[in-house]
Amino acid sequence: METAKVNRPVNVRRPEVMAQVAEDLAHFQSTLVESLRQQGNELELPGVRLFLAESFGFCDGVKRAIEIAYAACRLFKGRRIWLIGEIIHNPDVNARLDALGLLHLPWKMDDPAYDALTAEDVVIMPAFGVPVSLRSRLDAKGVTLVDSTCGNVIKVWQRVRTYAAAGVTSVIHGKARHEESMATASQSQGKDGKGHFLVVFNDADARYVADYMNGRGDRAAFMKRFAGSYSEGFDPDLHLAEIGLANQTTMLKSETAEVQEILRAAVEERDGNAERFHMFDTICGATQDRQNALFDLLKKPLDAMFIIGGYNSSNTTHLAHIAARRVPTFFISTADCLLHPHRIRCYDLEQKKEVERTLPACLRNPERELQIGVTAGASCPANVIEAIICRIAELCGCAEL
Ligand code: SF4
Repeated sequence: METAKVNRPVNVRRPEVMAQVAEDLAHFQSTLVESLRQQGNELELPGVRLFLAESFGFCDGVKRAIEIAYAACRLFKGRRIWLIGEIIHNPDVNARLDALGLLHLPWKMDDPAYDALTAEDVVIMPAFGVPVSLRSRLDAKGVTLVDSTCGNVIKVWQRVRTYAAAGVTSVIHGKARHEESMATASQSQGKDGKGHFLVVFNDADARYVADYMNGRGDRAAFMKRFAGSYSEGFDPDLHLAEIGLANQTTMLKSETAEVQEILRAAVEERDGNAERFHMFDTICGATQDRQNALFDLLKKPLDAMFIIGGYNSSNTTHLAHIAARRVPTFFISTADCLLHPHRIRCYDLEQKKEVERTLPACLRNPERELQIGVTAGASCPANVIEAIICRIAELCGCAEL
């Protein structure tokens, strides 16, 4: 029988490995991207002018998580080192870590792979954190724990734990199956595990909840719609009495504001005041900066936008949605996606899969210089951005940058 004990995560960023880690991380840097940043984020190519957003690419939380993963690989060389899910959502970063021999544990609480862990194993928790029950399971196994959870995620946990302690149900604006939202949801159940949560994905979900709170809904339909998105024992007739908002750190800021306003108005309509509504904006600064920089970039008369990042990256997907509403947008993950001057492999936000696209005629046969915007999500390294810029230059007939 596994005993409950708490394992303190080990600090792996120790002097004896950090020089080596700095060398490892140099792979993800780019002198080209740095010099573009310093020269006003513009690049003139034959027939094309590229504009980079003011803020793009790696955030501090992602840099720290990758550093921790590399440091663990160096420090515990020779031991089995496991990572729960992905350290961050970027294929290049994850492939490099895999090449160091990192093993993977599935993001599934009841997976038998966890049974086979022993005190000799090292387990890295990713930047999004892990749910409380999974953490307890790891504690009981006595593994060496390495924690790369981002401080911004921990701030959200503190907030939802405060809600739980006050008997307030957390309404989390996020994706119910995203690792970070799952971890936050588990924290919202509080110390005794009796707190409640409901995850809403968008404004339509929020309106549905608002209607239910004001007697305009059907209980069975509510439970069906949100199946998998609420805590065990959640009763919408009881647990929506007092609600506190929090959000996955990487959601679209404007949508989070809308969700908050819909639910605040719903409480006010029901109670005559908003005293039993609480909110706390937990979108992280890095996500916000990248979204704001994209909005600024989109004020230019762009012909197209390239959004660079992993297709399962939440913050990058939001950037792609923002851009796609204004301008032809290509969401790409690597330079290989640029197949030919007129053909691109990119992620289709509607079909939710990678597709091949022919460029629109206005981009294929332009009568003037094209203006193309470029940005990248918080989990995208500069070396990938550089490779894509170089490939664009190559397709424009520019042999060298
Ligand atoms: S996007 Fe924000 S929450 Fe996520 S790792 Fe970066 S800083 Fe942390």
